[in-house]
Amino acid sequence: MSNIEQTLSIIKPDAVERNLQDDIKKMFTDNGFSIKDEKKIQISKTEAEEFYKVHQSKPFYNDLCSYLSSGPIVVMKLEKDNAIIANRKLMGATDPLKADNGTIRKKYGISIDKNSVHGSDSVENAKIEIDFFFNS
Ligand code: UDP
Ligand code: MG
Repeated sequence: MSNIEQTLSIIKPDAVERNLQDDIKKMFTDNGFSIKDEKKIQISKTEAEEFYKVHQSKPFYNDLCSYLSSGPIVVMKLEKDNAIIANRKLMGATDPLKADNGTIRKKYGISIDKNSVHGSDSVENAKIEIDFFFNS
């Protein structure tokens, strides 16, 4: 049975800065994702703090929010069968050094903080994150 889902993907500042957005978008479309909506934007630190509030108790929270707001990002609404898990798999592990071959983070990630992409981690968070960028 098919289970079409939508998930939120962000091409983070380190990747946009290196002009990798077309290569990364091609990895998504080559892997069966359709890009239902997308925009290139720069968010404020306050918006980044809201977006990443699940991590507010973590030691890396402040740097993470500064980083996400440090330059342009590309946010995309991706659709595919089981999109949330499929996107997590295509992204690879949070730390690019631990990411499998063939994943976006293995190919393009620089470090655990500059790991090129974000992807929603659950159906519930995908809805919240898509609303955050596209339905506000
Ligand atoms: N992060 C970091 N240091 C860490 C763990 C995470 O800078 O020790 C950053 C990293 O950019 C990651 C983001 O915080 O993508 C969110 O962390 P999460 O655990 O949700 O990883 P993800 O879902 O992005 O794989
Ligand atoms: Mg996460």
